[in-house]
Amino acid sequence: MSRIAFIGLGAMGAGMAANQAKAGHDVHAFDLSAAALEKAEGAGCRIATSAAQAIRDAEVIVTMLPAGAQVREVWTSEVFPNAQAGALLIDCSTIEVATARNLGAMAAEVGFAAADAPVSGGVMGAGAGTLAFMVGCEEAIFARVEQVLAPMARIVIHAGEAGAGQAAKICNNMLLGISMAGVCEAFALAEKLGLDAQRFFDIASKSSGQCWSLTTYCPWPGPVPSAPSNHSYDGGFLTRLMLKDLKLSQEAAAHSGAATPLGAQAAALYALFDGLGYGGKDFSALLQLVRGKLSELQ
Ligand code: NAD
Repeated sequence: MSRIAFIGLGAMGAGMAANQAKAGHDVHAFDLSAAALEKAEGAGCRIATSAAQAIRDAEVIVTMLPAGAQVREVWTSEVFPNAQAGALLIDCSTIEVATARNLGAMAAEVGFAAADAPVSGGVMGAGAGTLAFMVGCEEAIFARVEQVLAPMARIVIHAGEAGAGQAAKICNNMLLGISMAGVCEAFALAEKLGLDAQRFFDIASKSSGQCWSLTTYCPWPGPVPSAPSNHSYDGGFLTRLMLKDLKLSQEAAAHSGAATPLGAQAAALYALFDGLGYGGKDFSALLQLVRGKLSELQ
């Protein structure tokens, strides 16, 4: 059993902290929201009155916060001054690659083992303990990181050194954003050409256009019953979160000099969709914008 400080108990962190408590760890949880703290207490965590209180004496400190600004603030103002020597710091939020690298270097400078470990799997995966973790850390500490993450994970993959977890996450999600936009356009064209959607699906899913966005997460309602398209595009992976990740990918592309014109187009498309008020819909609802049928979205 380890003593774990868990900072950030929102949509994702709530389920993740609960799974650590369920695995028998002594979880000291903190969030700025009283409602989030109350929920964590009900899930078997101990409630801390401040981040510092949760962090002191913890062997492992996990952060699951909205964005890079909050992670930087919590790590520099709360974690570095209060963590005990030998503590392992793991940030599971999705943040800028540059910030993750910078915080990794700062942690190493003050003598802490640290990892960036963003996740894929959404709120359902967080609750079920089936998240995929992409980890950036020194090879020497990966086994320890993997062991800590196990109660929350389906799979834990070492991506490379500090920042590599964030790099893997935004490259994957940029590919996902582009492939979903492509699938939406293909369905929109098929419709204009008078092709039956199910028949197009049957053909493309067995041809070279096959991809996850088509066969597992089909944006056209019908062919894949479990996809959010069959549930009014509610739940799933929200458009505003896809937009966040696409913006991070474009920021990283600008910093590194990578040419990502399709990533830029995808970011612009999801920004338009979000701006029209659909940020709370699953990102596959972009189909209805592309086919000019926004009226079909409730
Ligand atoms: P959320 O907004 O629901 O939760 C964030 C929590 O952090 C909130 O409860 C907030 O009160 C708390 N918080 C903010 N600043 C704080 C501080 N200084 N100290 C303590 N607590 C603080 O967000 P979420 O959906 O849980 O996402 C968390 C991270 O996971 C984000 O980086 C997001 O991009 C990433 N992510 C989310 C999903 C998803 O489907 N929701 C999927 C994959 C990755």
